Amino acid sequence: LPVTWCLRPAGNIRVLCRIKPVMEADQQEGDVITAVSPEHGSDSSVVVHYKGQDRTFELDKVFLPEATQEEVFLEIDPLVQSCLDGYNVCIFAYGQTGSGKTYTMEGVPGDPGINQRALRALYREMEARAGLWKYSVSLSMVEIYNEVIRDLLGKEPQEKLEVKLNPDGSGRLHVPGLTCMEVTLPSSLPWAPGLPQILSLGTRNRTTSCTNMNERSSRSHVLLTVTIAGTDCTTLNLVDLAGSERVWKSGAQGERLKEAQNINKSLLALGEVIQALRAKQAHVPFRNSKLTYLLQDSLHKGNKMVMMVQISQLEKNLGETVCSLKFAQRVC
Ligand code: ADP
Ligand code: MG
Repeated sequence: LPVTWCLRPAGNIRVLCRIKPVMEADQQEGDVITAVSPEHGSDSSVVVHYKGQDRTFELDKVFLPEATQEEVFLEIDPLVQSCLDGYNVCIFAYGQTGSGKTYTMEGVPGDPGINQRALRALYREMEARAGLWKYSVSLSMVEIYNEVIRDLLGKEPQEKLEVKLNPDGSGRLHVPGLTCMEVTLPSSLPWAPGLPQILSLGTRNRTTSCTNMNERSSRSHVLLTVTIAGTDCTTLNLVDLAGSERVWKSGAQGERLKEAQNINKSLLALGEVIQALRAKQAHVPFRNSKLTYLLQDSLHKGNKMVMMVQISQLEKNLGETVCSLKFAQRVC
């Protein structure tokens, strides 16, 4: 019997899926392209043929491999705009390493991803509303690696930061010492750095501090937080999550096993927090990971979220693909 997982979410959580095109660079001799396909005539489900069964996953929307960055952003644009109406918004890219998370969030030179498009869209809308409201925008960027938070825009990116209760009595959280940069678009204004300079500073700080960048980038989360101060103070969090692959299967030991457990701990914690929020539970376990603790104020009920689940079309990745789609199901 075919199995159907119903992922169609209610309320403020939207779960999207992007199927990565098969690239020559990912393929090795004998790799088979499968069995991940949109259901016929539907733009909101995928069928995965796995372990002898056709499994259909229903989502809010499925982007085919040929979907452009522009098409992906258009789906998210209204949500981004809602930051200017007082909502906190979190956008996550989830999936195994190589499935296109960074492509979707950061993009590539000449074809930016959600991060830059979201900021541009916000600025366009702020300009349109400037007659009515005045806004200011600042950015911070952190990496969470092995449950340690580091400031990617700071002068001391090695320093460990902590999440603390804000002493202003608001009950909100803050991160003492975290750099917030005011940003302007276009970047020609002299009194604040432009967006591309800020983002490349973050990327540079990330790479200069470690010996094995590939390992590290697949095992750490990167959060770009846009704070918009206007009538309200709202945040847009753009999160490139660590790879969701099950590392313990590959015989990880010692330090690597610890890393693997931390990644899984925080992805698991994220799933649990979203489930608790959806179920309107009185206790939401935000403090189980640095990632969820840092996002606590933004993830609270009533705010909005997009989970972009990235999947591969290669048969060798099917196990991870099914896991990623099941994660999506758990958070719906
Ligand atoms: P991840 O961040 O999940 O590890 P990447 O975003 O780095 O994966 O993607 C792996 C490679 O595939 C990169 O070279 C990236 O540019 C490319 N890639 C990913 N998705 C697409 C896409 N939709 N179109 C073209 N290239 C893509
Ligand atoms: Mg990446």
